[in-house]
Amino acid sequence: MKVLIADQINQKGIEELKEVAEVIVRTDITPEELVKDIKDFDAIIVRSRTKVTKEVIEVASNLKIIARAGVGVDNVDVQAATERGIMVVNAPESTSITVAEHTIGLILSLSRKISIADSSVKDGKWEKSQFMGMELNNKTMGIVGMGRIGSQVVIRAKAFGMDIVVYDPYITPEAASELGVEVVDLETLLKNSDVITIHVPLTPETKHLISMPEFDLMKKNTLIVNCARGGIINEDDLYEALSEGKISGAALDVFENEPPVGSSLFELDNVVLTPHIAASTSEAQRDAAIIVAKEIKKVFKGESPRNVINMPVMDSETFQIIKPYFRLAEKLGKFIIQTTQGNITELEVTYCGELAEIQKHDIITRIILQEILNPILNEPVNLVNAPAVAENRGFIITEGKRTDAKGYKNLISIEVESEGNQVSVEGFLGKEPKIVRINGYQVNVKTEGTMIIARYKDIPGIIGSIGVKLGEHNINIAKMQVGRQKPGGEAVMVLKVDQKVSKDVEEDIKSLPNVYDAVAVEL
Ligand code: NAD
Repeated sequence: MKVLIADQINQKGIEELKEVAEVIVRTDITPEELVKDIKDFDAIIVRSRTKVTKEVIEVASNLKIIARAGVGVDNVDVQAATERGIMVVNAPESTSITVAEHTIGLILSLSRKISIADSSVKDGKWEKSQFMGMELNNKTMGIVGMGRIGSQVVIRAKAFGMDIVVYDPYITPEAASELGVEVVDLETLLKNSDVITIHVPLTPETKHLISMPEFDLMKKNTLIVNCARGGIINEDDLYEALSEGKISGAALDVFENEPPVGSSLFELDNVVLTPHIAASTSEAQRDAAIIVAKEIKKVFKGESPRNVINMPVMDSETFQIIKPYFRLAEKLGKFIIQTTQGNITELEVTYCGELAEIQKHDIITRIILQEILNPILNEPVNLVNAPAVAENRGFIITEGKRTDAKGYKNLISIEVESEGNQVSVEGFLGKEPKIVRINGYQVNVKTEGTMIIARYKDIPGIIGSIGVKLGEHNINIAKMQVGRQKPGGEAVMVLKVDQKVSKDVEEDIKSLPNVYDAVAVEL
């Protein structure tokens, strides 16, 4: 086997590979040379310099695996690799400890005013009384997002004698109890923490998660740190909160615009800023090299690597039969993650009618899982790693078959148990995917655009009151369907609307009398 090292990686990774393969190091290879020579290699390792484009992949007749010695795979055409059955692996865990250590560094720099005291001494001053600090011992650390990095921060914060509270609606109770942390809602975390640190991915849900209403809830002595992604903290609001003394200090490694040229935060003494270096240590780079080298060794030995982020497309007869259902599965997964509250514990998928006759449902379940997990995780979840990621997060997954499809030719029926609620949805694939049942109520909706799903008491006036409320928010109803089990009991309403629906609108509908619940879904 022949491995091409196209970017500089740690020697330890190269040594690891030399045990099983011929290793060629060409860290100055040009894009043209890569296209010419790639056919000779079984594996390639890149960092971010080398682009593994479609053009490269198309001529890579021997290539089995592309390894990115790091986390992001923006420089690899994963789609093209997947189509040609080439695995793409990365090393998502390689930077966790490094980023957690940087986070602790920033917290100490804030709590003991280290960076500003350093500048003062270098200016020839000796202003001891200016730099009264705060001990971390016995203080409360609030961690927003307890994934790979958040968990490492927990371990380190404990060593400082801190109490820990965590906000992460998607972690399992087992993961929380294993680390001995208290899981709370965001408001409780914001009100009670002396130090808040952010470790969530940037998603539509986490964009400006920390803005003025959140700063208003914090204690005046709060220190806040963001080593995750720019845009999770609203920087204009942060400036105001710091200037008005609503909180004591902030440290950022990541910014809404990088570099943050001319940021008003530069004016403030109670701010520590670093240039997106939280993941930059030689140990993280070494670990990334070793991790991907081990992955390549596994592939060469015919074993399954751990961090495969794609899956070769099957070109079997079954694949052709099953492929049309992918879109339906995708839409049902999207529906589930938007309607489920809190951490999912169980997912049951039943394939009915024609679908029950097909043997390989596994790939459809993987698509559903991928759609459920991708919006909440930083790591890319795909057809290959979806079941493993779900299992790590404590989902119990059950797949079943039923010949009876309740009058339809085919049906995918999904039931989800989460800590907050239970959701069930059924979808049918005719000329196009449709949702035909929600929580047991029969409906018939196309899987596109924005819809509001409301549960309410089936008494006169409720439908009207919801319509009026939407009118007040300038939201136009395009289509409406209602389903109920018996007159006067609980009913469900599905409203297709022409505008996007914000959380405020959802809350306004929920606050109407006799409306039990309302959720907006974007498909
Ligand atoms: P991860 O996927 O392991 O963990 C993310 C956690 O956030 C998960 O437990 C998830 O359940 C939780 N989460 C998702 N949405 C949430 C929400 N709305 N509210 C609360 N919790 C939510 O990711 P990770 O590897 O720990 O990375 C965390 C962050 O750090 C990411 O934003 C990543 O891009 C960033 N990062 C930054 C650097 C740097 O150089 N500064 C380096 C590596 C990673």
